Amino acid sequence: MTLFSKNPALSALFAKHGEALCRSEGLSPDTVREHINRGTMVLLGNPAHPGVRPVLVGQPSRIKVNANIGTSPLRNDAGAEMAKLAAALEAGADTVMDLSIAGDLDAIRSRMLAECPAPVGTVPLYAAAQGYISADRDPSALTTEDILGEIRKQAAQGVDFMTVHCGLTARAAAWATDEGSRVLGIVSRGGSILARWIRVSGQENPFLTHFDAIVSIAREYNVTLSLGDGLRPGAGSDAGDAAQWDEVIMLGQLARRAREQGVQCLIEGPGHVRLHEVETQIRGIKTLCNGAPLYVLGPLVIDSCPGYDHIAGAIGAAAAVRAGADFLCYLTPAEHLTLPDLEDVRAGVMASRIAAQAGEVALGRAHALEREASMSVARAALDWPGMQDAALDPGVFCAKRAEHANEDVCAMCGDYCAVRMLQD
Ligand code: SF4
Repeated sequence: MTLFSKNPALSALFAKHGEALCRSEGLSPDTVREHINRGTMVLLGNPAHPGVRPVLVGQPSRIKVNANIGTSPLRNDAGAEMAKLAAALEAGADTVMDLSIAGDLDAIRSRMLAECPAPVGTVPLYAAAQGYISADRDPSALTTEDILGEIRKQAAQGVDFMTVHCGLTARAAAWATDEGSRVLGIVSRGGSILARWIRVSGQENPFLTHFDAIVSIAREYNVTLSLGDGLRPGAGSDAGDAAQWDEVIMLGQLARRAREQGVQCLIEGPGHVRLHEVETQIRGIKTLCNGAPLYVLGPLVIDSCPGYDHIAGAIGAAAAVRAGADFLCYLTPAEHLTLPDLEDVRAGVMASRIAAQAGEVALGRAHALEREASMSVARAALDWPGMQDAALDPGVFCAKRAEHANEDVCAMCGDYCAVRMLQD
């Protein structure tokens, strides 16, 4: 039996949206079906999400970009997060994750699902832990019922993909936090909660021990499991250690197990990885996870540029796409400093889209090369509307040119325009 035949919600979704999706991706329905069955592509879309426009992620579909938004205890304004949602979609994000950890999380999530036609992702562990952390109780008291109940509730609400840190084992958590092992230990919020839970309870990760129960909920709603990297490196010097690879190996095994039960999986990747190690990391993860779509956070190629982490992340992301990554989680100028504002969201989405374009050009993908060719041809003809059409961000193109919009050259060289000089 194929993954499609084991997952009726996925089959129904593809029957409804498959034709339009295939047209926009330039792929045949058979190709898409084959890759989804093989697990190298996923179709994000929970039929319970009202008005969802499903999105394909994974080879050979186009690279996709995700924007993370959500409240925090220090900046808790649901209205501001809705404005960021609109800004992210307007800038071209393909998906959005609600990472809220303050306020009425159910209400924020419902509102986001109602206002966002793009697939919405969450980390259910945050909501499960909120009752404990906000009441000053130890989240290591979380029960399996808390976790499974939260996953089921969010699936029924319409969440399209969920980060679940199932591959984090007790032994790898210890490796990541042993004295002298890492500079930065565990930097994932979910990873740190689970490592604490494991340490206090003396038991194995409940997301791992109850994996089949999670899979069973996911199948009912076609929730794609984004197998989280709770032990991702948080410093360039921590990348590629035993803890990281132990988790990757587990994620590959779990993705196979989920697929066998009709559930789609993404694999979450690093993190902080130095530029010369990005290709090895990406190829290693893809191999160990049987080509499952890889969702990367950056990777940040240096640690020393707070305020510009969207740039460090875009450099890593372009290299990652070239090596096989499929899905880019944005980083904003606010990373490591504060909650992003509207401008940060916009800058983060654009940085990731630029990285995706750079990576796809390097891979020789037709749609990316066509955009480059259109821009070059338009530049050679001083065809400003043509340049605007080819631009990744036509809005910025217009705004920057506004002052001299009626000139056939731009204000960089004016009468010294090299292009016009030789046209004449
Ligand atoms: S004015 Fe200079 S920068 Fe502007 S289009 Fe001409 S050559 Fe290019």
